[in-house]
Amino acid sequence: MSRLLGLSKVPVFAEPGDAKITAEFGKNIKDYPTAGKTGDHSGIDIVRCTDGKNSKTASVCAIADGVVAAQRKWVKGFKSDSATGGNCVYIRHGNGMTSKYLHLKYGTVPDRIADGAAVKKGETLGYMGATGLAYGDHLHFQIEDRNGTPVDPEPYLTGEKSFDDHHSYALMLTARYDNKSEAEEALALLHKAGISVALCEI
Ligand SMILES: [Zn+2]
Repeated sequence: MSRLLGLSKVPVFAEPGDAKITAEFGKNIKDYPTAGKTGDHSGIDIVRCTDGKNSKTASVCAIADGVVAAQRKWVKGFKSDSATGGNCVYIRHGNGMTSKYLHLKYGTVPDRIADGAAVKKGETLGYMGATGLAYGDHLHFQIEDRNGTPVDPEPYLTGEKSFDDHHSYALMLTARYDNKSEAEEALALLHKAGISVALCEI
């Protein structure tokens, strides 16, 4: 059963309109990946729609600022298309979270969306499509926390949760040693305690 998000604009689609969820996020999802089956789904499958009808076009855009961590830009007929995600873009965000956009249409991921490229919230990443393991045009949208664990993306689409809610903080300390081996000893102890430190000459 599909259901609507109930929004006039979904943040991962450039054009206004609601989105219909065709497969929910989570474990033991009914009728996923195909009708009559049950499977675990690491993201949410959505289709952009207007007036309850599926839209023919949908530009997929970044949910927040970040840097391209990975992408795939297959052109039709170029390579075997059996990989689950098909054409996709992964964005690493400043808070350590990652957003993933899968099954993008052939030839629609812009050249500038290359590994390491900075992207702005709302920037176009390609068009909703059906590349990879897909049974029709849709966007598989996935969010992973900073440990790489998929989390429910729906609250981020509805605005209930925001990427701004998550921040990382770094504590900068300086310890001065006159002797390098003493410094290295201290470094080894800190590493052993799971504290990430760097040694530099001052
Ligand atoms: Zn999916």
